[in-house]
Amino acid sequence: MARETILHPAGPPGDDDDQDLRPQTMADMVGQREVIERLRIVIDAARKRGECLGHILFDGPPGLGKTTFATVIPHEMGVPINFTSGPVIKAPRDLVPYLTNASEHSVLFIDEVHRLPTGVEEYLYTAMEDFRIDIVLGEGVNARTHNLWLKPFTLIGATTRAGMLSGPLRDRFQIREHLGFYTTEELAEIIRRNARKLKTPIDAASQHEIARRSRSTPRIANNLLRWVRDYAQSKADGKISLALAKDALLMKGIDDMGLNPVDRNYLETLIRVFGGGPAGIEAIAHTMNASADTLTDDVEPFLLRSEMIVRSPRGRVATIKTFQHLQLPPPPPEAGGPQRHLFD
Ligand code: ADP
Repeated sequence: MARETILHPAGPPGDDDDQDLRPQTMADMVGQREVIERLRIVIDAARKRGECLGHILFDGPPGLGKTTFATVIPHEMGVPINFTSGPVIKAPRDLVPYLTNASEHSVLFIDEVHRLPTGVEEYLYTAMEDFRIDIVLGEGVNARTHNLWLKPFTLIGATTRAGMLSGPLRDRFQIREHLGFYTTEELAEIIRRNARKLKTPIDAASQHEIARRSRSTPRIANNLLRWVRDYAQSKADGKISLALAKDALLMKGIDDMGLNPVDRNYLETLIRVFGGGPAGIEAIAHTMNASADTLTDDVEPFLLRSEMIVRSPRGRVATIKTFQHLQLPPPPPEAGGPQRHLFD
């Protein structure tokens, strides 16, 4: 019997607050100007031709707007959208209801598309190229394969790891866009707009302060804004001032650079236990009582990007910037300071 598959026609799965703040149109979106301009052109042209929009792949780190784009595009096209994600689709039959239920020109969004099993990826090839799938009817010796024609639809895939997508699948996306990080000014603008949506008064200095600590990422900016809003409502009159924003962020352990307590624990471990490195990720993880995967996926990307650590052939090394940030004296070069390890 076919397994029941849950479709999400209303909106992307996620917490309600996320939905509240998510832009609904491209005009509501901040930043990513070039991506938006290119998308406007393909949307406009598809509309004029009365055709379905080509399949689109968004790649980039978490929280930069992949799902948001996938939501606003069908909105601009005036078509419905269905949501699913790679880890949920374990076999082709899990995907079939999404494909057969897709109405003409509608959008099917697959988040974490790099996590689709190979068999499902291959099943998607004809669906994407010819809007056709093979389905098996009957069982055992009576099983017959039938061709099923689908209504033309647009597949929007999102991935944090474009490199993990197989070449043939990647090539079937006619439009591929990479989302980059946001400037502090863009994040301050997002915070300004979202504070208004949350009916929370905030001054320009506080918008900038929260933006500066948001690691160039809108999702983090929204989370920090919500926390500061709660703090303002609980501890004061609900208005966000610079002093209040700083107090709230201090209480949450978010420092000047946007480092959180886990980041600082990682850096302090690297320096205190391993003299600044080089140290292997497994050794660091054991000492912190954390999993190496979590550190590699969730903690290190920002530390690498902000040049707090480097990955040398012999392991992780803290940079001078980390010693300065944590206000620790760097070890003398003859003792094997962080700079020397880099060139070993
Ligand atoms: P991803 O799918 O890349 O992980 P999302 O699209 O879910 O990221 O973005 C996280 C949140 O950040 C959204 O709910 C939205 O509120 C906000 N956001 C993302 N991109 C933008 C943008 N360009 N302008 C305004 N807000 C944005």
